[in-house]
Amino acid sequence: LKEQKAVTMEQSRIFQRATHQVMPVALSGSGIYITDAQGKQYIDGCGGAAVSCIGHSQPAVAQAIMDQLGKLAYAHTSFFSSAPAEELAEYLVELAPPGISHAYFVTGGSEAVEAALKLAHQYHQENGQPQRNKIIARWQSYHGNTLGALAASGNKMRRVAYADILIDVVHIEPCYPYRYRRADETLDEYGRRAADLLESKILELGAEHVSCFIMEPVVGASLGAVAAAPGYLKRVREICDRYGVLLIFDEVMCGMGRCGTSFASEHDGVVADIYTIAKGLTSGFVPLGAILLGQRVYDMINEHSGSFRNGHTFSGHPVSCAGALAVQRFVQQHHLLDNVKRQGRELERQLLARFGSHANVGEIRGRGLFFGVELVADKNTRTPFGAQLGVAARVKQESLRRGLLVYPGSGTSDGVNGDHILLAPHYIVSEEEIGCIVERL
Ligand code: PMP
Repeated sequence: LKEQKAVTMEQSRIFQRATHQVMPVALSGSGIYITDAQGKQYIDGCGGAAVSCIGHSQPAVAQAIMDQLGKLAYAHTSFFSSAPAEELAEYLVELAPPGISHAYFVTGGSEAVEAALKLAHQYHQENGQPQRNKIIARWQSYHGNTLGALAASGNKMRRVAYADILIDVVHIEPCYPYRYRRADETLDEYGRRAADLLESKILELGAEHVSCFIMEPVVGASLGAVAAAPGYLKRVREICDRYGVLLIFDEVMCGMGRCGTSFASEHDGVVADIYTIAKGLTSGFVPLGAILLGQRVYDMINEHSGSFRNGHTFSGHPVSCAGALAVQRFVQQHHLLDNVKRQGRELERQLLARFGSHANVGEIRGRGLFFGVELVADKNTRTPFGAQLGVAARVKQESLRRGLLVYPGSGTSDGVNGDHILLAPHYIVSEEEIGCIVERL
């Protein structure tokens, strides 16, 4: 198999997600390119799933990981802290909006979401309000694949097979300030109405029963880089404060610089009680996720039980933390967020120039280096292709054939939302490479 150029279901002993797919075998990576076993080069236009961001090989990161492996690979957090974990926590707290005081490490985005939901629950218990056990989330969101995170996710397609074993999370309709198919409203009206829906839901459930509201400030996988309407996050923050509901921003995909600021929600100047981060935190060099929590949440636990009742074997893994620190240092030393903003504008410009009037491109939207291209059957009526056609998946496959990686998002079976593809180039991307991505697309 080591000699194999592409792997089919019959050959592979990996239980692949799509068992009938033939997969190219990835061999090496350099800059924003991945090369497969046949020597074919792919330009990475999406960082996998908005993960890789500083290039596929970086000697400084590899060295930091090797150095840590040479010193100490692993020490369980029930016995020890470690220098890389301490340093990374300090770095993240410093980077985070004011009021964020601590970091808690896990191994990925779903685990981070689980930890955030559990921490919110424990916060209310220790605050003498154990009846606050309702979680509110939004339709067409994605928060991960473990049962709790999937329960919070409002992605109907991903939920359907497990709907009967998911915990009860309340989703609000309509999911998002997703204005493309609501052209009858101004962006401001849309944002206002979406926030009002949150307030109505809290009142309907009884504020004394609501634990938290979880949302992506810029929706990634489920909608394709759809940012909150102006003023929406601010209103959401006010509503949460009014009713004692904790606010969780899931920045697993949109955070850590992807949108041109360290945290996507910085754009709106709104601070959550808990953040979830992963993906760009390590650029995929090592697995790691984290939650960042505010002083108020920390104090509640610290002053009562003094123990967050959650834990994972690989929490705060020293090698992962060392890798994350090296990635973050690289981002800072090379002022990559400036490049994210600059090349993001270039990406938007080129996408609009090339596809702005394409008959099957309904909308081009995004922020930083996080862009969605909405694919429609009819541009005038904004009619989606219909989920059964799998248009986004076919664009992904054809792009792969032509040596470009793009991340597809399928329409919903109810026909409310259409297909889109997500572009999330590495933060190191050059203008020329942006041109190459758009050209291949
Ligand atoms: N939250 C968001 C917003 C995500 O986009 C994802 C992954 N796409 C997750 C959580 C889950 O992260 P992971 O796949 O690392 O478990």
